[in-house]
Amino acid sequence: MGKVIAVFNQKGGVGKTTTNVNLSASIGQMGKKTLVLDLDPQGNTTSGYGIDKSSVDYTIYEIMLDGLDIKDAIISTEFENVDIVAAATELAGAEIELTNMEDREYILKKAIESVRSEYEYIFIDCPPSLGMLTINCLTAVDSVLIPIQCEYYALEGVSQLMETIKLVRSRLNPNIDIQGVVLSMFDGRANLSIQVVEEVKKYFKGSVYTTLIPRNVRLAEAPSHGKPVIYYDSRCKGSVAYLELAEEFIDLEEDII
Ligand code: ADP
Ligand code: MG
Repeated sequence: MGKVIAVFNQKGGVGKTTTNVNLSASIGQMGKKTLVLDLDPQGNTTSGYGIDKSSVDYTIYEIMLDGLDIKDAIISTEFENVDIVAAATELAGAEIELTNMEDREYILKKAIESVRSEYEYIFIDCPPSLGMLTINCLTAVDSVLIPIQCEYYALEGVSQLMETIKLVRSRLNPNIDIQGVVLSMFDGRANLSIQVVEEVKKYFKGSVYTTLIPRNVRLAEAPSHGKPVIYYDSRCKGSVAYLELAEEFIDLEEDII
């Protein structure tokens, strides 16, 4: 059974989408069959994988709102071992539409069930808000991977985030776990970045990945070329970091280290 993982943090701009795209692409390149679900109406994961949102027939919207079989919405990307289910702006309306549906928190979980055995990993990119889409996501996953930006107030909002996870654990998904915490936009020359790493490690103890994701302009450029960074500039710092993160992720998953 594939493991389902949400890339989640209620804060916007912390590197969720960048991590979702680049970690999944790196894991795919390492030979693991991976599915990426774009649950953010902005669809940045979809375009980051080079998919033109306007040309997609079916998105996560039709799966969740019209009961479309997820298999009919899966698109294979041109990148190794990665398939995707796209998002589109209409998904923004789903927040309201979902509130009237039966078992509304479990819709995504049920939809994913039929393809879980076909992938080793399923990554979900969450919107920054805490609406029905995010609740569906947290109900459907085995674990959450939390990106935290190395900046002032990095831990601001983190206690709320942990409360959200606890609430989901007690009401909707007893098995939800923390996959790991990724520090993003690290600047090794800045004392602030170094302090943030220490603070976050103190808060999350053993859950923080050793790999730090540096601030790297290639990571910001790659989406406009419709490519994960490892296919855009394979030797830049961002590529090296996400490949290293993928290795650490897999090693921990497979209990190698
Ligand atoms: P979120 O999905 O949490 O809102 P994004 O992944 O979209 O965050 O990142 C926010 C912005 O920061 C984007 O413009 C992205 O290209 C840029 N960015 C993310 N990570 C890095 C990084 N490590 N180095 C440089 N720019 C980054
Ligand atoms: Mg995003």
